[in-house]
Amino acid sequence: MDSERNESRQLKGIGASAGIAIGEVRITDRRRVAVTEVMVAREEIPCEVERFTSALERAKGELYALKDQLASTHGPEHLCVIDAHLMLLDDTMLVGETTQYIERLGINAEGALKRTLGRFKTFFEGVEDDYLRERGNDVETVVERVLRNMVGEKQEPLTKIDGKVIVVAHDLSPADILQIDKEKVMGFITDLGGKTSHSSILARAFEIPGVVGLERITGEVQDGDTLIIDGATGVVIINPSQDEFKEYLQKKQRYEYVERELLKLRDLPAQTLDGHRMRLKGNVEFIEETASLEKHGSDGIGLYRTEMLFFNRSTLPTEEEQFEAYAALVKKMAPLPVTIRTLDIGGDKCLTDLDLSDEMNPALGLRAIRLSLRQPESFKAQLRAILRASAFGEVKLFFPMVSGVAEVRAAKALLEEVKEELRGRHPFDEKVQVGIMIEIPSAVVIADLLAAEVDFFSVGTNDLIQYTLAIDRTNEHLSSLFQPLHPAVLRSLKTIVDAAHAAGIDACICGEMAGDPEYLPILLGLGYDELSMNAVSIPRVKKILRRCTLEEARAVAQKALNFATAAEADAYLKGEIAARFSESFD
Ligand code: PEP
Ligand code: MG
Repeated sequence: MDSERNESRQLKGIGASAGIAIGEVRITDRRRVAVTEVMVAREEIPCEVERFTSALERAKGELYALKDQLASTHGPEHLCVIDAHLMLLDDTMLVGETTQYIERLGINAEGALKRTLGRFKTFFEGVEDDYLRERGNDVETVVERVLRNMVGEKQEPLTKIDGKVIVVAHDLSPADILQIDKEKVMGFITDLGGKTSHSSILARAFEIPGVVGLERITGEVQDGDTLIIDGATGVVIINPSQDEFKEYLQKKQRYEYVERELLKLRDLPAQTLDGHRMRLKGNVEFIEETASLEKHGSDGIGLYRTEMLFFNRSTLPTEEEQFEAYAALVKKMAPLPVTIRTLDIGGDKCLTDLDLSDEMNPALGLRAIRLSLRQPESFKAQLRAILRASAFGEVKLFFPMVSGVAEVRAAKALLEEVKEELRGRHPFDEKVQVGIMIEIPSAVVIADLLAAEVDFFSVGTNDLIQYTLAIDRTNEHLSSLFQPLHPAVLRSLKTIVDAAHAAGIDACICGEMAGDPEYLPILLGLGYDELSMNAVSIPRVKKILRRCTLEEARAVAQKALNFATAAEADAYLKGEIAARFSESFD
């Protein structure tokens, strides 16, 4: 048994936060609380309701105490994760439904809360979008805290950990990540979790290497085992051999060296050898991600996805709530600009009281700008909040999933109404720039007509590739057919930028393609003005940019456009990159 335990084993999970960590296993108790549903006598029902509400209050007290404790070491932008959990503790669905279950079914408080959690889970599991689906984890974390209070189980805080260890847990909450002391915890791995969970986002912001979604890792290791984790690839090695140990030690040193070198580019301008400037910006969902943007050096935020404000709740956020969130982000980034995208949910991703769950093809359904135009009052509340935030720094706004000019005109008409309502009441930037996402093939075909209506284009290559090639972006069986270098995609990218420039407006890209350094020569050569990506990609893209001339990039783009297949364009591009920039891709 022991010899089996000491044999090296390799597992593959989801790389949640890049970096290589080597250390000793420290299993931390983050298992789910086991609770059973039982019937209670009628006269005990008020008592169960009272147990539930006092457990809620205690959970709130704990979170407030944690916030105070972390306030000296973490800025408010990180502590807002705790605020999100506090808000959930007041969620009308969570509180109301649990109370109703106790009262209607005559069951204990734990059983009732588990039932409510079950309803939340069914809802989130049915959501197609990875990012939205993982918001379900936040609800589980919060419910777990309340359940622990009801059954009287305490959790050891991660701050108590000593030694250089890798934390192994069933799941880690965002609050756990905030408590990690990087001197003592080298990294973490968990059974549950996904790339876009709050915890993973925070781990990336603090650069704590982590691998999640390993399913049963807590049962496969024990305290004292040695672990290697690679947060970029998701590889986890239990009790590595000497050769593996040496290999990863070298990889770790190399990774840290490359990171340090890349960070030297932080304050250098994003421009080509011949002085052509390109703006490199960040995509964010949470204000806490701005720390990483600052560290990696950005020209602002090119895509703020506002969806996160609409999760984990049964009612829409008010104008005031939205205003506070947008204004905080704008103030944080000032004087750099923030480009805010209006709500991009709908279809099966809709969390409002509209029942859209029966749509046959949610990706082609009532979503994004289509949904906003169907709900003009909610849309106007979001527009008012965005405009009011523009009083605190440079704000641009743009609409997702535009398919034609009529939608742009309708959205702009509502924007005008909102401006009129705000005049004299709230300050805002009268000249706020208005753009659209180009991510539907019809928008490409009529890019010239659309360019006449707006101040900028931002290409969503994730959806543009999906809709142009009819490849579901979430279907892992089709991933080899999701081809950014398909001639149809490259020609579309050229049509878009040419139409924008002919109309004198900027062309930007905010899909994943923008953050891949291999595509930089093509996007630069086609003439794009701005790329927006994950913070860590910025110095990588900047490094290639600073080694190109515009002339060279134009020649690369021209040649790439002439290939008949994505594979040929890919081989050509890889050859060019290897010949010109090999050392940049180490
Ligand atoms: C895109 O489609 O490329 C994009 C940036 O938007 P999202 O990924 O949010 O759909
Ligand atoms: Mg999109």
